[in-house]
Amino acid sequence: MARILTGIQSTGIPHLGNILGAIKPAIDMSNDSKNDSFLFIADMHSLTAIKDAGVLRENTYTVAAAWLAFGLDVNKTVFYRQSDVPEVTELTWYLSCFTPYPMLANAVSFKDKLDRLSEVNAGVFLYPVLMAADIILYDANYVPVGKDQLQHLEITRDITSAFNNHYGETFVMPEPKISEQVMIIPGIDGQKMSKSYNNIINIFLPENDLRKNVMKIVTDAKTVEEPKNPDTCNVFKIYSLLADKDKIEEMRNNYLRGGMGYGQAKETLFVTIMEKYNKERALYNHYMSNIDELDKQLKIGADKARIVASATLKRVRKAIGYS
Ligand code: ATP
Ligand code: MG
Repeated sequence: MARILTGIQSTGIPHLGNILGAIKPAIDMSNDSKNDSFLFIADMHSLTAIKDAGVLRENTYTVAAAWLAFGLDVNKTVFYRQSDVPEVTELTWYLSCFTPYPMLANAVSFKDKLDRLSEVNAGVFLYPVLMAADIILYDANYVPVGKDQLQHLEITRDITSAFNNHYGETFVMPEPKISEQVMIIPGIDGQKMSKSYNNIINIFLPENDLRKNVMKIVTDAKTVEEPKNPDTCNVFKIYSLLADKDKIEEMRNNYLRGGMGYGQAKETLFVTIMEKYNKERALYNHYMSNIDELDKQLKIGADKARIVASATLKRVRKAIGYS
């Protein structure tokens, strides 16, 4: 059985791109009985940027509610909040003593910010070491990553071998698992949907706000009567990701034939989202109005995670000479 570990950033309510590109594939993977999966909300990483306690707390809950709403099964996945297992910070310190300064200075996450060094806190600099500790603490064999995270995983592997070479095999060597066909979901302006581009579709919004959100999708200025090109239209692109095959075909024909305005296409998309995610929206709202239930689920995960974490730390302390 391979242990797969995934960290989730908690920087806001997951959007349609996160759901189709990350949440659903990860849940499918965790439901595969060949995998032993660990999934955590990286709220300690978030502290490098978010210093508002209310926002930090709320972000964890919205992310947890979204994952649970989409069917994450806490009996199949160890689902926990990073900060509930403070052992990770102890390991971060040990690992940082095996991390050469130039390696961190070369990390993209830090190099990106060289032009505004006064804004960089040590947490940003140590980010890859905390990530290494996240992985090593749980004996992960595989870490699914996008290409942008490959360098960080290389750092994890370098630290792992530095430690193992010095003290003998203490840690499991993790490997990246790169998802081959990354699906890129377009946002309401046609660029990649991204929180930082302000172009998301938030399927968890209340009905009226969700309708407004969908109505903001950018289109050209063709009149109702004119035939339209579905393949260059953001509304159609998003619709194609969600609707059934025959409905997509029908919509395509409506575009080509003319006589259907963009407003109508958006309304159809809106109705499709409401129908398709009816259950998930209700579950999300249920969790967000029952935070104690979220806490309970996260506590189950934290208890399981801590068992593995403390066993790893015991090995490390022994290797280092603390016990
Ligand atoms: P930010 O703007 O802060 O980078 P984001 O909206 O891009 O935020 P991330 O937190 O970077 O979201 O990504 C979380 C997960 O969702 C990652 O696995 C990422 O690959 C996936 N993801 C994000 N945006 C999309 C998208 N448009 N299409 C498919 N997958 C996406
Ligand atoms: Mg991103």
